[in-house]
Amino acid sequence: MTTAVVDLDAVRHNIRLLRRAAAGARVMAVVKANGFGHGSVEVAGAALAAGASWLGVTSLAEAIELRTAGIRAPILAWLHTPDDVLETALVSDLDLSVSAVRTLESLARAAGRLGRPAAVHLKADTGLSRGGATAGDWPHLLTVAAKLRAAGLITVRGVWSHLANAEDPDDPGLPRQLIAFGHARAEAAAAGLAGHLVHLANSAAVLQLPQARFDLVRPGIAVYGVEPVPGRSFGLRPAMTLESTVILTKRVGPGTGVSYGPDHVVARETTLALVPAGYADGVPRRVAGRAEVAVHGRRVPVVGRIAMDQIVLDVGDLPVRAGDRVVLFGPGDRGEPTVAEWAGWAETNPHEILTGIGPRVRRSYRGRCAGNAISTRSPSRPDECAAMTPS
Ligand SMILES: *Cc1c(COP(=O)(O)O)cnc(C)c1O
Repeated sequence: MTTAVVDLDAVRHNIRLLRRAAAGARVMAVVKANGFGHGSVEVAGAALAAGASWLGVTSLAEAIELRTAGIRAPILAWLHTPDDVLETALVSDLDLSVSAVRTLESLARAAGRLGRPAAVHLKADTGLSRGGATAGDWPHLLTVAAKLRAAGLITVRGVWSHLANAEDPDDPGLPRQLIAFGHARAEAAAAGLAGHLVHLANSAAVLQLPQARFDLVRPGIAVYGVEPVPGRSFGLRPAMTLESTVILTKRVGPGTGVSYGPDHVVARETTLALVPAGYADGVPRRVAGRAEVAVHGRRVPVVGRIAMDQIVLDVGDLPVRAGDRVVLFGPGDRGEPTVAEWAGWAETNPHEILTGIGPRVRRSYRGRCAGNAISTRSPSRPDECAAMTPS
């Protein structure tokens, strides 16, 4: 059936490449949304083995899944409500992003109840207008943070922000964000909040904006081997191959309608091949009439409407039979489409294709870290596969 084969050696290669690009800054592997669809625990294990020292996720639930798997590396979670069960974060030794005084106060109460300080990363909004405190709200957030730190209720582990368009180094919004971030850092220092990690860079910024690297970088899509800057290649290796199996073939004549509608009518005698992957598995309906897959090392078109559970290929006169392997996308080095091509056909980004791969698709792991990812042993060699921070 349909399987996402994840090459954990590719993840390790990408992390090593990102570490070199980070030039001394630490690497936080962003494994939100189930590791961009690849499996967060497995990717985290491989990333830590290759020298990443932090993990980044959105929700507390995602962070706790990593802890439950035995991962002890520092984890930052950045989306939670002020009323989330913040005790859980403290007990699980999670770092939380804080953009508002209300969250700080709620964390301080949790810290008081538990008798241990909450580790926070104060987030400045430098122009993205999502998370983070605006320049107007930042001084008050710092004042309250300094007070709670003095009371032993929080530790300020980081000061951070996020870029709106690091993919385009000529975007005039970029220098504006860098200047705003400079002000936010200076104000944090003036408030007496020194000694924390400063972080700003996502994948594109790690690879092409040295001025955005600071102490820690937060690559996401590049960890999975997708090139983040349009038109540039940094040597990343795609980690996922999405493959399936032909379950039925049939010879049909001209005029035969294919799939619902039918939106597609066969022009000449041909072989149709049925593949059990549909939009519930992450094949977007929008790719109808555009998408191709590889079978027998050749590209063939997906024809007709994409159904919930299946697609139909027009394989012409290729001797395709039930049981044959079909590659929807992969690294691209055997002629198969890449996830970037699928993103083009679906008029979206590769992130949406990868995170849209459904729960019915089995994840299978290859490479030296496969099967080891949830080990809690301390690695005895720096590159040993274990979900621990390398010493
Ligand atoms: C998703 C995310 C990242 C990773 O971004 P990429 O562009 O995939 O590298 C980094 N930081 C934050 C805050 C994010 O939400």
